[in-house]
Amino acid sequence: MSFAELGLSEAILQAVSDTGYRHPTPIQAQAIPVVLQGRDVLGCAQTGTGKTAAFTLPMIDILAAGQPKARMPRSLILEPTRELAAQVAENFATYGKQHNLTVALLIGGVRMEEQNALIDRGVDVLIATPGRLLDHAQNGKLLLTGIKILVIDEADRMLDMGFIPDVEKIVDLTPPLRQTLFFSATMPPEIRRLADRFLHNPKEIAVAPPASPAETVDQSLALVHERDKRQALRALLASHNVSSALIFCNRKKDIGVLTRSLQRHGFKAEALHGDMSQPARTETLERFRRGEFGLLVCSDVAARGLDIQGLPFVFLFDVPMHPEDYVHRIGRTGRAGMVGRSITLATHDDAKFLAAIERLIRKPIDRIAVPGLANEAKPGVPAMAAPVPVGAETPSGQDDRRGRRRGRRRDRDPRERDSRPPRTEDRSRRNREPEPAVVGLGDHVPAFLLKSINLKKRPEEPEEKEPVDEMADD
Ligand code: AMP
Repeated sequence: MSFAELGLSEAILQAVSDTGYRHPTPIQAQAIPVVLQGRDVLGCAQTGTGKTAAFTLPMIDILAAGQPKARMPRSLILEPTRELAAQVAENFATYGKQHNLTVALLIGGVRMEEQNALIDRGVDVLIATPGRLLDHAQNGKLLLTGIKILVIDEADRMLDMGFIPDVEKIVDLTPPLRQTLFFSATMPPEIRRLADRFLHNPKEIAVAPPASPAETVDQSLALVHERDKRQALRALLASHNVSSALIFCNRKKDIGVLTRSLQRHGFKAEALHGDMSQPARTETLERFRRGEFGLLVCSDVAARGLDIQGLPFVFLFDVPMHPEDYVHRIGRTGRAGMVGRSITLATHDDAKFLAAIERLIRKPIDRIAVPGLANEAKPGVPAMAAPVPVGAETPSGQDDRRGRRRGRRRDRDPRERDSRPPRTEDRSRRNREPEPAVVGLGDHVPAFLLKSINLKKRPEEPEEKEPVDEMADD
């Protein structure tokens, strides 16, 4: 099948061919003709399937005829996060370069003067996160009564993020005679109920998820001591000759600490997390995409859904507490058939989370050694002294380690804490769990390495860790 068979205009076909796409993906082949006919669509598809172009391409053709009125957008696309909203806006810029459509973004964290001025004049396409849009619609700055096409994207993620009540209010503000395109990666009953309410006689399209990153990304894992993580990361960056990578941390405070540490060691690294203003996030990402710096240290919320073409490496500086986050993180590399590689740094405290990840991806992650570094000891074994090169941080002490554990316990998801067995049982279970292999040292660890040593507190260690604010998007 070719794009030319789908009923798109010559101008769009040209833009698609300029982008380098040869054939439509299954969701594009099925959805584009239906959208062009004006029918509602219920699409079960996730990111990576090409679903953004499946709705942006026909929308551009439909909207090519007609003019917007002041404060009355002609179409509305709802996205759960700022980054996804910005990516959809980029799609319009790429495919709509031969059209004169006005596109505005209404997302949290952006200085709105410019976007407000656009909306006041009239826009063809409004791309928004639900909270920010509702503020504008409720104080009369925006009228949704002129919406001809409504797109609700990533509906199941909206549900996870608690946005559904806002989405329902927004849909109630749009006219009943509209075309609605509704996409969700999964169809749990709540989502199905919403789809039934919002859509009229939709064409249902379900496409297989793209090959899981768990299959396409070459994954490995290094077991290290908590205090050696930064040194291990530097050694791995150097030994793998890494020019460009995302580096994920679990906590936003650690993102700053790690970024500064990498910069001090001569790496071109910058930070990206949900506490940064939206213009700063967008600018940082743009500069990363342009290759102005090679290492982007980030949180899940900032990097979720990000599509960075040809990213060769992802590092997980921390093991995520939720196994799905592992798959999201490694999925930033190895996209669109390219080779990708992920390396995770784990300590023996992570055994439980690692086991959950390996259960989810249904295979063990390859263990690798870090050049020039002793690997993590078995659970219960005192901290080992590892070689520290000149200029590296001094190792932290036992008290500091305990502090980290206390912080980590506080950081855990409360639901998880509630469902955890009592402590004694937890401990005995832990003893029964298979111990991580001591890579490089075999089973025999020389006695001199196991002696406890008197260590000082690292000056740059954060006093207390805060959980990354997962809901910082709206
Ligand atoms: P999406 O599922 O919309 O997030 O798209 C995932 C990736 O697939 C993006 O990098 C798109 O640029 C790319 N893509 C979309 N459509 C096609 C196509 N027909 N051929 C090749 N790549 C595509």
